[in-house]
Amino acid sequence: MESTLSPEARVERAKLAVNTRWKSQFNWETSSMESCHSRLAALRAEAEKGGLILQRRMDNDRVSTAICYNPDCHTGPDHTRATFEISRAVGSRSRISQDTGLMETAYVCSAACYLYLSANFKHQPAAAREDVTSPIDNVNNQPAERLV
Ligand SMILES: [Zn+2]
Repeated sequence: MESTLSPEARVERAKLAVNTRWKSQFNWETSSMESCHSRLAALRAEAEKGGLILQRRMDNDRVSTAICYNPDCHTGPDHTRATFEISRAVGSRSRISQDTGLMETAYVCSAACYLYLSANFKHQPAAAREDVTSPIDNVNNQPAERLV
């Protein structure tokens, strides 16, 4: 997609974007020390509260059983994939999910299944990742470099 903005208009748009973004931030340089300490205490309290709530939510969502990652696993009942307590897993691997950006972990029931896990449960290569640059970012990035 080609931008219809002139170079000057792009610079003005980028300056507006930078100014708009930083105007909404707390001014740590010129605010009084008292208000800076007060603001910092509020941010720390909010971060601690958020961390505690997130940890509790993650604990509630934690699962205790897993299904073997290997689709060809036949060690479960009636030669199906094994289901087991996570504490009894023979191995596991973690990666960042390409869909959610969160860490995900896969578990296996045996050394043979771990070979499959090692070969197939990998991070997505950087070259294959989706290009997240939008046309708006292109417009804003170029003039922003000129401001610095
Ligand atoms: Zn297995």
